[in-house]
Amino acid sequence: MFDSHIHTCFSTDSNMKLTDAINTADKHNIGLVITDHMDLNYPKEAGFRFNVGDYFKEYGEYRSDNLLLGIEVGMSLDYKEDNEKLINSYDFDQVIGSQHTINNIDIGYSDIYEGLSYREVLIKYFQEICDCIKTHPYIDTLGHIDYISRYAPISDSEIYYDKYNDLIDSVIKTCIDTNTAMEINTRRIKSNVTFDNLKKIYSRYKELGGKYVTIGSDSHNPTAINNNFKEALLLCHLCNVKPIYFKNRKPEFF
Ligand SMILES: [Zn+2]
Ligand SMILES: [Zn+2]
Repeated sequence: MFDSHIHTCFSTDSNMKLTDAINTADKHNIGLVITDHMDLNYPKEAGFRFNVGDYFKEYGEYRSDNLLLGIEVGMSLDYKEDNEKLINSYDFDQVIGSQHTINNIDIGYSDIYEGLSYREVLIKYFQEICDCIKTHPYIDTLGHIDYISRYAPISDSEIYYDKYNDLIDSVIKTCIDTNTAMEINTRRIKSNVTFDNLKKIYSRYKELGGKYVTIGSDSHNPTAINNNFKEALLLCHLCNVKPIYFKNRKPEFF
């Protein structure tokens, strides 16, 4: 099994040493895909960027069948060429495409939500995800579709499938049309409400023709590695989707 979403100290918000991540993965008997953050559109200049040459130089010697080197790129319509150039310049195993911004503004900023209903914000969020998947054809898997639920400053930020099915269906269809896998991000899955909602989303993914999911803890420290994987595998089973990871940009089965 693989944890396909891991942030080590090349990510500006993580202090995790690669060797600590590897030791923890060995204890859980799983492999890792390291996916440090690169958000070229992040407003603060030094935030969420790293030197990819150094990353490969430093981590290259640890690379093996169980330790793969990927990246999580922040998708943005204004940076699609820069992202593409970056991805084509290095020999990544896996590329996660993530929407951390709406119109290049961090999803955590309350300005985004001011004067709008949650549905109005979600229209922008999901529309930008669809546009970005289409303009970033080099991503292997869509990261955390429910990322906005972590940071939206409202009392119930769940992206309920029953309420927003028209918007979520567009994302699912875009993933399927572009042959992009969908990630099950295990960060929020422990909550029953979230689990039931994700079950609806990934069942719909299967229903519309989707097959493959990657599973990632989005760890920034060793204790989070492999978190809630039991729940994620149960979700795969219930939704009848296959967990995979990417090696050399090609899907591999657990
Ligand atoms: Zn992310
Ligand atoms: Zn991440």
